[in-house]
Amino acid sequence: MRPPAARPEQVDVLVAGGGLAGLRTAAALREAGLAGTVLLVGAEEGDPYDRTTLSTHLFTQEAPPLLSAGGLGDLDALGVPHRRAAVRSVRDLAGDDAAGDYTTGEDAAGSTPGTTPRPAVRTTTGPGAPAGARAEVTLDDGTVVRARVVVAATGARAVAAPWPGARTLRSAADATGLRAALAPGARLVVVGAGWIGAEVAGAAAAAGVRVTVVETADEPLGRAPRVLGRHVRGWFESAGVELLTGTGVSTVALTREAAGPADPAAASDAGPAEGPDAGPADPGERVVTLTDGREVRADVVLAALGAVPETDWLAGAAPLAPTGHVRVDALGRALDGPTWLWAVGDAAATVRPDGRTEPGAHWEGALHHPTALAAGVLGLDAPPPPASYVFSEMFGHDVAVLGDPTGPPTVERSDDAGITWLWTDDAGRLVGAATADHPRDVPPLRRALAGGGRPNLDAAVAADPSRRLRDAIARR
Ligand SMILES: Cc1cc2nc3c(=O)[nH]c(=O)nc-3n(C[C@H](O)[C@H](O)[C@H](O)COP(=O)(O)OP(=O)(O)OC[C@H]3O[C@@H](n4cnc5c(N)ncnc54)[C@H](O)[C@@H]3O)c2cc1C
Repeated sequence: MRPPAARPEQVDVLVAGGGLAGLRTAAALREAGLAGTVLLVGAEEGDPYDRTTLSTHLFTQEAPPLLSAGGLGDLDALGVPHRRAAVRSVRDLAGDDAAGDYTTGEDAAGSTPGTTPRPAVRTTTGPGAPAGARAEVTLDDGTVVRARVVVAATGARAVAAPWPGARTLRSAADATGLRAALAPGARLVVVGAGWIGAEVAGAAAAAGVRVTVVETADEPLGRAPRVLGRHVRGWFESAGVELLTGTGVSTVALTREAAGPADPAAASDAGPAEGPDAGPADPGERVVTLTDGREVRADVVLAALGAVPETDWLAGAAPLAPTGHVRVDALGRALDGPTWLWAVGDAAATVRPDGRTEPGAHWEGALHHPTALAAGVLGLDAPPPPASYVFSEMFGHDVAVLGDPTGPPTVERSDDAGITWLWTDDAGRLVGAATADHPRDVPPLRRALAGGGRPNLDAAVAADPSRRLRDAIARR
């Protein structure tokens, strides 16, 4: 006789993804008073860590810092069990009779050795939320979990390159592999001069690696304001990094020795050969042929081509944007999707009241948006959204982009230390900013742009670096 099928586990909230957004979601739900059951399912080994240092500190840290060490949340202390598994699929239980067979009092923590069961408490997922599980999630270890709320915090993966042996950088394991492959004197070709490409180029050059960066756009940091890209260009040169703009990669081939010829005699023919089975760890020279016909030789090729949301597991259960993001409102609730689905961090794209869509791709969003999401899930008032803010560190310089800077800036504010550019709308109100080596301007800008703020800007005062920037910004 076959044993009866195991009863699905049941939780109030299932958080998919154990990165910054997942951890902060679990913490924010507890901080907002959720006493029910939360289960965090994360595909990565170990505790949640800070991804931003993987590039900037590639050669100066063995392992990235844990987020718990930075005071951002400790799953055990929060009473949130953390399961190492990947969410494979999710299905809507609407209309499924079995879904009513559900109590919120069972605590997932109780089934996990070493964690403290929390008291059975009926919790709320917002006014009028129906009782009972609404979604069924299947993990790659075969476990099935039912939940009233599913939070997609599965982040993004690096865009894979179609070239044999090319590496990408997204995880701690990627960083370990890249570091091991880059001894001083090694030749690195970075494809893409975006944030991560520029950060790695600077860190590698400082560690004695010979770096070439290939970028199809005519300036680095293509998604940032053009003035900033033009400004950082000089940093590549000062660091001894060769920056080739306006050209792309056509092919990457391993030399025959590296690809492992079937006939050893053929090894003497050192012409390049496509190595479809070659992996990043294959030693040997890569021949990178550019779209303009030039060739660059490399020991390591890093594809820094951007990231795509890790949302394949939602296929069929929720509509996704063409980019793969879950489109959400300001609270993180999925738009046009099932009511149990919420999303946050790099997996989500927030649709603003003015219709603009802001894809998650940066640390500050993953850090702060979970607070609004927790309030939304619990039916509480949400705090005003923070200003959109991207920071970076490259070539020993620091950079920030805030708000919505588009087109040419209105004001430039520079001194010996660095530059701040400011953007205003037609009414002279501040809408965005970028800074290079002007960290002191960042806090007043963040305050000014928080909550969708557009304060009036006194352009004459703002352009005078001897005056405080905050004196140029009208108080609200
Ligand atoms: C090298 C690097 C440098 C960066 N530097 C900066 C910077 O300087 N400034 C800045 O603002 N931002 C930076 N970022 C971006 C920032 O780190 C991200 O915005 C942030 O990590 C997003 O957090 P997240 O939790 O949404 O996603 P992630 O950090 O990607 O976490 C998602 C987690 O979900 C897991 N997961 C994926 N699929 C599944 C599944 N099906 N089931 C279960 N778990 C799953 C993943 O393994 C991962 O652990 C950088 C990113 C990288 C990669």
